[in-house]
Amino acid sequence: MLYIGSHVSFDKNEQLVKSTKEAISYNANTFMFYTGAPQNTNRSKILDGKTLEALSLMKENGISFDKVVVHAPYIINLANRNNLEFSVDFLTEELNRCNQLGIKYIVLHPGSHVGVGVEEGINNISDGLNKVFMNNHSECMILLETMAGKGTEIGRNFEELKQIIDNVENSERLGVCLDTCHLNDSGYNITDFDQVLEEFDQIIGIDKIKCIHINDSKNDLGAQKDRHENIGYGTIGFDNLLSVIYNTKLENIPKILETPYIDKVKAPYKEEIAMIRNKEFNDYKKEK
Ligand code: FE
Ligand code: FE
Ligand code: ZN
Repeated sequence: MLYIGSHVSFDKNEQLVKSTKEAISYNANTFMFYTGAPQNTNRSKILDGKTLEALSLMKENGISFDKVVVHAPYIINLANRNNLEFSVDFLTEELNRCNQLGIKYIVLHPGSHVGVGVEEGINNISDGLNKVFMNNHSECMILLETMAGKGTEIGRNFEELKQIIDNVENSERLGVCLDTCHLNDSGYNITDFDQVLEEFDQIIGIDKIKCIHINDSKNDLGAQKDRHENIGYGTIGFDNLLSVIYNTKLENIPKILETPYIDKVKAPYKEEIAMIRNKEFNDYKKEK
């Protein structure tokens, strides 16, 4: 079955109820959210009443809660020792929040080494994850996201993710989130996605893929830029994205849009989800 959604907002009063209503307005059957602003640590207490209310709303509207994912904030950086203690503590708290909400997956950027080098960065990430898993015993998996390779980002290829996973004791609690824009920008050619998947399978194992971010890219293959574009308007293109979304090896894995708002104000997700379901590109930006 196709599970398609987008990232949606989570607000401190209405919480998951707000997120669910937004997802319903896009005709989504899954979604992704941040438990608070991605760039700061202000987090409100999880209100169980709101979670229950949201769960019944999801049920009535065909949203699969077990496919809903959280994204960890960008300020977490396990790759550099200067941030490690803070990052471990905050990621532990995020896992606790996910656990209380009943969320099964949290997507994490592996981190940026900021000068210490890839090898040390990778070791720091694995150390950090080991500490987090020691502190927290929830069922929520951490999904390492494939990155574009901007700056000193780690996770720009499957080999780096594999090294991190191999050094984590409870590696069964780790999965991977593919991001099509990041794959393209880091040099994986999505026009031959089966080949990319084959490579992933040989290095990490396809069963580790638990979420896919569906984004077009503003940049050429291998640009190491990380700038998302609306579906069908970028360098990857609509048909190539469809080949990811409908790949039979990735059925039942939640697909999440993180494409930019139109003119910075209007969410494109209702149109994008409709195009994906219809398997037909519709130049909705041109109509107006
Ligand atoms: Fe991300
Ligand atoms: Fe992403
Ligand atoms: Zn990105």
